[in-house]
Amino acid sequence: MATLSTNIQYLKGVGEKRARLYARLGITTIGDLLDHYPRDYIDFSHPSSITGAPYDRPCAVRAKVAAKAPEQRIRKGLSLFKILVTDGQSDLLVTFFNTKYTAAALKEEETYLFYGRVSGRIGRREMSSPLVFADDPTLSFFPVYPLTEGLSSKMIAANVRQALALTEGLDRDLLPAAIQKANGLCSRREALESIHFPSDEEALARARRRLMFEELFDLNLALGRVKRSSQKEAAAPMNPASMDNFFSLFPFELTKAQQRAIDDCLADLCRTVPMNRLLQGDVGSGKTMVAAACAYFAAQNGYQTAMMAPTEILAAQHYQTWSKLFAGTGITVGLLTGSMGAAAKRAVKEQLRNGQLSIAVGTHALLQESVSFSRLGLVITDEQHRFGVSQRMALTQKARYPHVLVMSATPIPRTLAFIIYGDLDLSILDEMPKGRRPVKTYLIDPPKRERAYGFIRKHLDAGEQAYIVCPLVEQGENSPEGLESAVEEAEHLAQKAFSGYAVGMLHGRMKAAEKEQIMADFQSGKLQLLVSTTVIEVGVDVPNATVMLIQNAERFGLSQLHQLRGRVGRGAAESFCILVSTQTDSPRLRAICKTNDGFQVAEEDLKLRGPGDFFGLRQHGLPVIKTAGLLEDMALVDKTRAAALQVLKTDPDLLLPEHAGLRERTSQMLETAGA
Ligand code: ADP
Ligand code: MG
Repeated sequence: MATLSTNIQYLKGVGEKRARLYARLGITTIGDLLDHYPRDYIDFSHPSSITGAPYDRPCAVRAKVAAKAPEQRIRKGLSLFKILVTDGQSDLLVTFFNTKYTAAALKEEETYLFYGRVSGRIGRREMSSPLVFADDPTLSFFPVYPLTEGLSSKMIAANVRQALALTEGLDRDLLPAAIQKANGLCSRREALESIHFPSDEEALARARRRLMFEELFDLNLALGRVKRSSQKEAAAPMNPASMDNFFSLFPFELTKAQQRAIDDCLADLCRTVPMNRLLQGDVGSGKTMVAAACAYFAAQNGYQTAMMAPTEILAAQHYQTWSKLFAGTGITVGLLTGSMGAAAKRAVKEQLRNGQLSIAVGTHALLQESVSFSRLGLVITDEQHRFGVSQRMALTQKARYPHVLVMSATPIPRTLAFIIYGDLDLSILDEMPKGRRPVKTYLIDPPKRERAYGFIRKHLDAGEQAYIVCPLVEQGENSPEGLESAVEEAEHLAQKAFSGYAVGMLHGRMKAAEKEQIMADFQSGKLQLLVSTTVIEVGVDVPNATVMLIQNAERFGLSQLHQLRGRVGRGAAESFCILVSTQTDSPRLRAICKTNDGFQVAEEDLKLRGPGDFFGLRQHGLPVIKTAGLLEDMALVDKTRAAALQVLKTDPDLLLPEHAGLRERTSQMLETAGA
């Protein structure tokens, strides 16, 4: 008899080959398959007419096969099958490539549901390679699964149907009954059936709510267990110290939000439990200054600070900024990155060990075992979303319970932040430094690029600087067609559109020393235009840069575009971001032109991309929240948290027999998260 842990090959139609494909999706058992939720659904409940079909997204059309043309051999290995279908009002030409079987299966005069993107003008509408379904009036939503090449949603759906039938009555419904009842949740069984094959929107919503509740409940329970085991820790409490000297180190006034965040942090640093604070602020809101204030305060108290950044470029930049900022204060700053020479590394490590350095700025290199501190009191991670839970923990192991400040521009809702970072406090920089103007963002198609170059030249002539971002480092044999690469683009632009201007190039494959030199030259203004890959995505701060042009913008995620765009608009001058793409009607790209607000961008991203690993949970080593609608239903996060705490209150170590399943599952989660 099949159980949830039965190998997937037990299912009909799943042989060794398909099992291998499933393994690529992380599915090896029947239970795994049931937990593989659709990422979307094809809505057959409202099929579109052929004339009314939208152009910008796929849709379902109910139509009858009117005529079939004979197979057309275009060349060896490429055959076309053309089929004319009609919905009684107008015709649609459906084309299949190389799928003899699908085309042959369609019978003339029979009605089917065709799902695909419609193109062509009215009267000559076309659809290529649609999915075809028998016209089943009970079919209202068909699941679309995250796929890998060789597997189709139809295959998965068939396997899931069988898996559901085989496992009837075998579900591990670990969520305590009282909690289910109190929160009006449906059973796990019902949820599983409806998440794969919802009968209507309501059933789908109910299923999502139940599954999401369970995922969040588990997460909260797991993190609640960690918290319990770490609560007794004592920290390096600090004493109030004057910050006046610090505030005289830079020419501008802090924003109110920065001031508030600094007050929050310094108060934490003076307590006897370690600070655990998330500083969240959109790109350009001035998080680094808050970090600097904390490092200064720690140094006044005789404690060292370690600040970890996700890229070498960013680490080097922070090192330079802070070396300059703290020059003459007696606070010493050192840099530690993987690409430094062995002798230089050894010297820095020695100075950290003997306490000569007050601040260590670095990359993952700071995590090495050979790195130790004489009196580490504060650990800061910049752009925290780039790091995993285990990495953050590794750094905090360098001292007995240091204070921790994590900084991120990724706008995660407060409640979700709790989940990812544990029980932390939150400071938000919801205010930009004075005089900032929102970046104006435009979307243009490639033919208008020359004009955009002219626009950039004007700004360079005015003494400002610019970035051009390309999706590729270099054209190679396997690079997709039509993508710009930094290497070719830099050469080309330096000779043509920007001849006579100082053009530099930056990408991840360059040697660290080269990268640093280029960044330094751009920072100092020696270079006017920087042609780059996304290595500049996070953190880079050159306030004199006012224009950014992004080639093949459709290749980037929305949040990534927002981060990139954050490289300009960092000074008082008006700044511009020009997105170049053939997809000028893309809703994603249009959305980002409309707003400068990172939270809105993230929300839009979530709406358009669907769920999945939106918040980078996987990067944090935590299970990915698979169900959608997270932003809409943040109240659920609070409810699950309360429910988890309630369970832990009565049974802190989950030792009761009815909690055995929960204990096992949460232990597993913590193990994978490296806790
Ligand atoms: P992010 O939050 O993206 O890390 P940064 O800390 O890099 O932002 O700050 C962006 C820029 O704004 C830097 O050039 C920084 O010196 C400057 N800056 C920070 N705070 C202020 C302020 N209060 N007034 C004016 N400029 C500021
Ligand atoms: Mg930053």
